Amino acid sequence: MKNILITGGAGFIGSHICLSLLEEKYNIYIADNFSNSSKKVFDSIRKIMQDKYDLNSIGLYIYEGDIRDESFLKIIFEEASKKQMPIEGVIHCAGLKAIKESISNPLIYWDNNVFGSINLLKVMHQKNCRTILFSSSATVYGDLNQIPFDEYSILKPNNPYGETKLVVEKILDNLFNSKINKWRVGYLRYFNPIGAHPSGLIGENPSCEPENIFPHICQVAAGLREKLYIFGNDWSTSDGTCHRDYLHIVDLATAHKKSIEVLFSKASSKLILNVGTGKSNSVLDLINTFEKVNKVKINYEFTSRRDGDIERSLAKTDKMIKILKWKPERNIEDMCKDGWRWQKRIINL
Ligand code: NAD
Repeated sequence: MKNILITGGAGFIGSHICLSLLEEKYNIYIADNFSNSSKKVFDSIRKIMQDKYDLNSIGLYIYEGDIRDESFLKIIFEEASKKQMPIEGVIHCAGLKAIKESISNPLIYWDNNVFGSINLLKVMHQKNCRTILFSSSATVYGDLNQIPFDEYSILKPNNPYGETKLVVEKILDNLFNSKINKWRVGYLRYFNPIGAHPSGLIGENPSCEPENIFPHICQVAAGLREKLYIFGNDWSTSDGTCHRDYLHIVDLATAHKKSIEVLFSKASSKLILNVGTGKSNSVLDLINTFEKVNKVKINYEFTSRRDGDIERSLAKTDKMIKILKWKPERNIEDMCKDGWRWQKRIINL
């Protein structure tokens, strides 16, 4: 099996990808500075795997450091080669993701997300590893398009975070077009991943203040926050709240497994895919479902719209289904149940 480096592999998305690839017997290297995650997640991954797999045979190598540090990245590639398990591909999840923070402090977003990616690509090139799958975002589409967004929709993000994602996509395009070195590049434009692994052992546990809605819902349900603030009830939607294409985190991890297989199947390839369910729900739908399936109450209050938000986001998923020969399997009830199971475990409810 192949040897893969996951940057940001301790984070919400990276940890689920890590588990999913370990289960397929990939050897995994992790590069993470733990700025928004914890090393403990790898104990939980081992715990999930212990019943079905021989833990001694798992190839999981964890490196603490920053992707903006070239020498740190080189060490990982060099040690992997010494182990006779050279890194053959990279899944690049490391990055900052809060839209509001990116508006108030754009420089740290350009530094982390763009400079960090350039640094990674430079080291990959030097070490002859030219296969990369990048965590992009539906934010690159902005609000000029008709919904659903297909992969050819207008790319016009309306916040700095989305702009950093789009710039990295363009850099990957340039590398692919350079031809000489035969890059395999992929970018997955995630819609709204939520939920947690059904074991309740891994999920989203941000060290920084979360900006997306799902951790807030879980924290209100758990009594860690008094109420949930909903940004606007005056949007032109059925109930006035924004619509999003929510996707189960385990399905998103599976999409990575399928995508990396597709990338490796050709000498040179470029993959641009939306990853969503193709169904959207309003914020109130999500809250109502969460309350119903988990038998809990969510206190909420409407507040004014937030800068950088758009009314609706919905994926056209035909291309994803055709290329990956797969579609997401879990529904919004599963997302709410699994997310709540995880939240209860981390606060010992
Ligand atoms: P996360 O914060 O849970 O994970 C990111 C990980 O990267 C963290 O473990 C963090 O410690 C690490 N990291 C950040 N900067 C780093 C650096 N310079 N060097 C090394 N490690 C660094 O976020 P996530 O939700 O898992 O998101 C992963 C990726 O997916 C991000 O790039 C994000 O922009 C993108 N994305 C996320 C969503 C979402 O809703 N969660 C949607 C679209 C795209």
